[in-house]
Amino acid sequence: MSGAPSSAPSAPASTPSPASPSDLQWNRANLIGLGFLHLASLAGILWMALVQFHWGTLALGVLWYGLGCVGITGGYHRSFAHKAYDTAAPLRWFYLLFGAAAMQTSALVWSADHRDHHRHTDDDDDPHSILEGFFWAHMGWIIRNRADRPGPNLDRVQDLARIPGFQWQHRYYWPIAIVMGWVVPALIALAWGDFMGALLVAGALRTTLMLHATWCVNSVAHTIGSRPYSRAISARDSLLTALITGGEGYHNFHHRFPGDYRNAIRWWQYDPTKWFIWTMSKVGLARGLQRTPVKVIAAARQQVRSADAA
Ligand SMILES: [Zn+2]
Ligand SMILES: [Zn+2]
Repeated sequence: MSGAPSSAPSAPASTPSPASPSDLQWNRANLIGLGFLHLASLAGILWMALVQFHWGTLALGVLWYGLGCVGITGGYHRSFAHKAYDTAAPLRWFYLLFGAAAMQTSALVWSADHRDHHRHTDDDDDPHSILEGFFWAHMGWIIRNRADRPGPNLDRVQDLARIPGFQWQHRYYWPIAIVMGWVVPALIALAWGDFMGALLVAGALRTTLMLHATWCVNSVAHTIGSRPYSRAISARDSLLTALITGGEGYHNFHHRFPGDYRNAIRWWQYDPTKWFIWTMSKVGLARGLQRTPVKVIAAARQQVRSADAA
């Protein structure tokens, strides 16, 4: 998965060339923004510990984390970037609003980066290749720019740009993100008199934790875990990552079958986003759910087993 805190301009496709430290430039806007987010998160913890603790504010933070997870995993990732299913307009707008609340760039930028990640997994044009190191894959790629890759390639998402809502969300990304991610929960918390607490907890702390959770898909789930479906890629099935992202941790399966609306296929594996999408399909808000045939999945597993036995 991708997940950057600010948008960047469209740029032509990059040409393969190894990035060395001298090719890297600080992305000052992202560095300052993330520094602010982490300090405000610390202030949120201190606020709850020393100033005012209210269960309503904590519950609001958890709820907004969950809604952001659905917006990113169900919307940005599986529906928009991979087109693993189609959404009816109300669900698409829900995803656009709460995806923005997660503060991981517009759906167009996020999807363009993510399509590049799948197209170039483990090669030099992967925007957050694990071969550049754990920290680079986690957040290094967000606070430093490669000279040979000045921004996401929006040519990759022309299909999405034609759908109502995407251009609007891209153009007004920052006001939407601030209103949906910070102002709305703070106004809700006025009901119990904790406006500032909600800004710090449901706004800053929730955003920061969810950014790191999403980045774990790019770092942890490309480093630690099993590879039951393909040994040719670094992506791994990671329960820990699944638990903090709403089910995005079964990353070896996902890279092997990226068009599948599921990340996990076993009933006991934790993929609530899959259950959410399935439920949406039953009430008419999602359709065309793509499933990889059981035979194809079994063949991939057998191929790995055979290679291990050889
Ligand atoms: Zn993906
Ligand atoms: Zn990946």
